[in-house]
Amino acid sequence: MKPIVFDVDDLCDLHDPYDTLCRIKEAVPSFKATLFAIPARWSKQLLGKYDKKRDWIRLGMHGWRHTLGECYSWNPREASDKIERGLALGLDDSFRAPKWLITPIIYAACAEYNLPVADHARYCIEHIEGVRVYRYNAPNTPFRAMHYHTWNTGGTGIELRQTEITNFLKRGGNTFQWVSEAATTTSSLAQACTVQPSLVSLPIGAHGAS
Ligand SMILES: [Zn+2]
Repeated sequence: MKPIVFDVDDLCDLHDPYDTLCRIKEAVPSFKATLFAIPARWSKQLLGKYDKKRDWIRLGMHGWRHTLGECYSWNPREASDKIERGLALGLDDSFRAPKWLITPIIYAACAEYNLPVADHARYCIEHIEGVRVYRYNAPNTPFRAMHYHTWNTGGTGIELRQTEITNFLKRGGNTFQWVSEAATTTSSLAQACTVQPSLVSLPIGAHGAS
């Protein structure tokens, strides 16, 4: 059985799925998840709460302010600076660009800090040397991707789907990986690509928005 990579986008003060995650963990003791947080939209209290759950929740970095296409405007120095600041906040599992909109500069900055990139088969840069990538909707992945949001966008809100998620995970035998554990080099990803990404179907929670 493939390990499950469970991730949730848009952690911020306004949208905090802490209680929902704890309920899932209670029902499924092996559960673990990666949350992508928006650095400019959260408080120290929120950070402190998740810091205590690091044995099963890892935090990744989700842009800086989560404005549309914000990573497009980052030059190499700004990208490195923001990633360094994100790492200092504890957002050290991986990086995902808001709305998946990413440039080679971002991959290079992540490579500089050995931070895996979580990207999208349709918006990715295919071959970047020296960076590990978690491409959740690539074909033939060795993991099962479950991708949600902290708020209900397109039916992917974790609170809205909690019962369905819990029932699915309670079937047992599940192992979990954080995004960073499932990330691999882009050259090995390219070898795995044998069908068009648009033909791949995914389990609950899969969709294109971020
Ligand atoms: Zn997002």
